[in-house]
Amino acid sequence: MRMTRLHAPTLKETPKDAEVASHQLLVRGGFIRKLAAGIYDYLPLANRVLHKIERIVREELDAVGCQEVRLPMVQPAEIWEESGRWGFYGPELLRLKDRRGGEFCLGPTHEEVIVDLVRRDVRSWRALPLNLYQIQTKFRDEIRPRAGLMRGREFLMKDAYSFDVSEAAALESYDQMYAAYERIFARCGLDFRAVEADSGAIGGSRSHEFQVLAETGEDAMVACTHCGYAANIEQAEVPAPAAGEPASVPSVETVATPGKRSIEDVSAFLGLPAAKLVKTLIVEADDELYAVLLRGDHELNEIKLRKHLGAAVVSLADEKRVKQQTNAPIGFAGPVGLTGVKAIVADHAVAGLDGGVTGANLVDAHLANVQAGRDYQATFADLRFAQDGDACPRCSGELRAFRGIEVGHVFYLGTKYSDAMRCMFLDEEGKDTAMVMGCYGIGISRIMAAAIEQHHDDNGIRWPIALAPYTVAILPLQMNKDDVVQAAERLYETLRGAGVDVLLDDRKERAGSKFNDAELIGSPIIIAIGGRGLANGEVEVKLRATGEKRDVAIDQVSAFVAEHLR
Ligand code: ATP
Ligand code: MG
Repeated sequence: MRMTRLHAPTLKETPKDAEVASHQLLVRGGFIRKLAAGIYDYLPLANRVLHKIERIVREELDAVGCQEVRLPMVQPAEIWEESGRWGFYGPELLRLKDRRGGEFCLGPTHEEVIVDLVRRDVRSWRALPLNLYQIQTKFRDEIRPRAGLMRGREFLMKDAYSFDVSEAAALESYDQMYAAYERIFARCGLDFRAVEADSGAIGGSRSHEFQVLAETGEDAMVACTHCGYAANIEQAEVPAPAAGEPASVPSVETVATPGKRSIEDVSAFLGLPAAKLVKTLIVEADDELYAVLLRGDHELNEIKLRKHLGAAVVSLADEKRVKQQTNAPIGFAGPVGLTGVKAIVADHAVAGLDGGVTGANLVDAHLANVQAGRDYQATFADLRFAQDGDACPRCSGELRAFRGIEVGHVFYLGTKYSDAMRCMFLDEEGKDTAMVMGCYGIGISRIMAAAIEQHHDDNGIRWPIALAPYTVAILPLQMNKDDVVQAAERLYETLRGAGVDVLLDDRKERAGSKFNDAELIGSPIIIAIGGRGLANGEVEVKLRATGEKRDVAIDQVSAFVAEHLR
């Protein structure tokens, strides 16, 4: 491609609304433009990157026997009513009506459509396993679209769905997809980690996220320093600490804490670390109130609480209800003598506190030396988020915290959809049986952003070779010198002939701005051709990934490029 023909409107200034590197560089490099919040145009450079990602995905999925389909984006409400999700899916689902008043939505995911397709035509165990996938635009009316392509409302996803005769067979399909995902993300040149993930409402199932390691990632994870354990902190288990010798704790004492409601304030006022305080949250779970106790320096994991209580939804109770039902003034709630809650549930760490400080259920007062079991009764469970430094739940190692960008998700579904929508087959004995499913997503457009988060510097993008829109950029530095222009043209033709994706910067620009744009767009190999070098039969080759520069004889350049791209 010639730069004079390429539609890549680069910008010198960083766009004001872009906070993360990938968003800034995609806009500055002329890859994307915003049409509306969370909705972007992909320009030619971005489109090339997306094609490269898609190609890797297709090759790896086709290799394990998945078959590509293309399903409608507009989906009728009826099938969502059958699965029970029309009512369940909140405002993220963009609903619309056609001219006859028929209700539809824009597909945020395609379980309903695929199940409807398969249940109509697949009847026999002989046709299974079946794994169908597509690469397609999804729409989710995200409450907070952010960071450019990272969390869009309209985005590109690869979604795959497996259908099997049994749980064992479905788990085999799952493992096969897991392995394919490892190959896909490795080929994309990403530093990633597969972590155990929350499997939502479907209990006892298996789910892993593939996370690209990046400080700007929205997801928090922990991984063991010793064994292979890694999990999203939504999911990460925190083992109960070993019970120590029961300490003898003096009896409860009331301390005045005027106006000190938060853990920080009480901790500063009493000169005690937050780890000596007990936080009491009044929580509403399916309309019942519970008191939830946590150590002051720990955070409640609502997913764990919901599972522990077997509730569909949990949330902090509102002030009014707390006032009406309990004797706990806001900020001074505590487990001793608390009334109006169904039960007190406490995180394991609270059991290990030898006399903690809790609210007194009196305005402006706390209690010291409070001992679980002696001063109040509670049930104990794992209710908090894992933290850096926690013990590993699988071995004697320690957990480290890190952040990531979720680029893929594999999910064992069981028969949730096939039961609800009657997706059945006749087994070998002729018995009507529900198919066992899995679903598998990859954020194609999010990968483009994640790759940049991981691979960039102050000057621009450093594309992994496999994703670069152009792997080589040729910069003739003096457009007024015939020998320079001719050498550049010859090299351009040679590389193109060899099947290399090459961009020739044939603009009549200063050398400086050609370098700037080349580094911004991020071609892995930048070849600068200048009069002085040519006089010695040499060009300058710069590797974008490392910044390493070297002079290469002009007749060796093709070989050098071929070697480097291998
Ligand atoms: P998240 O927790 O980030 O919202 P999700 O669990 O809703 O993700 P899935 O439904 O599993 O995501 O979708 C499959 C993949 O699609 C995700 O792993 C992610 O890479 C991508 N994805 C999901 N939502 C978005 C979005 N709003 N913008 C871009 N990519 C997305
Ligand atoms: Mg989501």
